[in-house]
Amino acid sequence: MSNRGLLTVISGFSGCGKGTVVGKMVDSYDYSLSISATTRKPRSGDVDGVHYFFISKEEFEDRIGNNGFLEWAEYVGNYYGTPKDYVDRMLSEGKNVILEIEMQGGLKVKEKCPEAVLVFMVPPSADELKSRLVNRGTEDINTINRRLCRASEEIDFIDDYDYIVVNENADICAQDIHRIICNEHKKVANNSEFINKIKQDFKNIK
Ligand code: 5GP
Repeated sequence: MSNRGLLTVISGFSGCGKGTVVGKMVDSYDYSLSISATTRKPRSGDVDGVHYFFISKEEFEDRIGNNGFLEWAEYVGNYYGTPKDYVDRMLSEGKNVILEIEMQGGLKVKEKCPEAVLVFMVPPSADELKSRLVNRGTEDINTINRRLCRASEEIDFIDDYDYIVVNENADICAQDIHRIICNEHKKVANNSEFINKIKQDFKNIK
């Protein structure tokens, strides 16, 4: 079967618990998580080089100019982007890579890498999302409202994603996504080299 890793995009509304689920996938199933660059200011608990690479707007724009991002997007007043080199390197080393990014970026990844798997994560309900954001206590009410507003705009793009998962329980949700990715590895379209080889082997059988 193919030795190349698969690229998985996980998107979902701010506050739906993506970070927790992705952390479980990295810990339990050895996925490589791409660390994005952002111009957003660190929140309390954010560590540079662990959660994000926190960079200035000028530096971000330079890196856009140098083709340093697989994708980038503006989200609620800040830039966010996926470093291209890391993703290319991990995939060629056979690692399964996760991008935890918003929808515009997810759709750009699909354009560039059609084999990427796009998973959209939703909370059990819209009310649950609002209370998770408020209880998280990391943003002021104005930012929370802008994030909720963005969620209501993004919902229409769900149709362009490949899978939807409901995050009621982070462990179960991580298992669900892992199972999806295991199945994607077995797709005929992701194994053309292997298939060509067995075709030859079987044609030469005497
Ligand atoms: P936060 O500010 O809450 O850390 O992230 C805001 C949104 O930006 C989240 O939906 C997160 O998934 C998304 N995001 C994080 N990194 C990237 C990235 O590299 N590219 C894009 N397009 N979105 C990102």
